[in-house]
Amino acid sequence: MKRGLFLISLLLLAASCQKDSYNRFCTKYKVYFSCETDISPYNQVLTPGRFLSVKKNNGLLILTDCDGETRKEPMSDNNNRMFMLGLGGLIIGTPVFDNDIRAYDLACPECDESKTTLKVSFKGSATCSKCGGQWDLNTDGTCINTDGKERRPLYRYPTSYINGVFKVSN
Ligand SMILES: [Zn+2]
Repeated sequence: MKRGLFLISLLLLAASCQKDSYNRFCTKYKVYFSCETDISPYNQVLTPGRFLSVKKNNGLLILTDCDGETRKEPMSDNNNRMFMLGLGGLIIGTPVFDNDIRAYDLACPECDESKTTLKVSFKGSATCSKCGGQWDLNTDGTCINTDGKERRPLYRYPTSYINGVFKVSN
């Protein structure tokens, strides 16, 4: 009898591990970023369905909105030191059906390398030109085109939004 219970609890444990095989938030890559959302182009992240990509390069922040418009902004020394943008950069924005601002990694989660970044479209999807994967930014970064094979969701990071300041950190 005891042995039976033990086996059942082992089975339950195995089932719950399977369910958690993709953690809600990524801890594999370090992230720290903050911005004030009353300043352009960061104000776009409050508009449902508009996603902004953020990259860091030689003391500059490279910001690309979902219309493909890119802007380069110098960072303060402090921000240059503090900001860590995950594997390939960040995608930040508010989903159409949810008021929580989201942050995903700009790197393709399947290719899993910093140089392979996703292209964000105005339709709220992100595409990898290397592996052909496509992810939905409005539904927690789930993969849209599975092509019969399972692709993991986008790397997602915890966010906070207090007094007009949006923060991503893990
Ligand atoms: Zn890929």
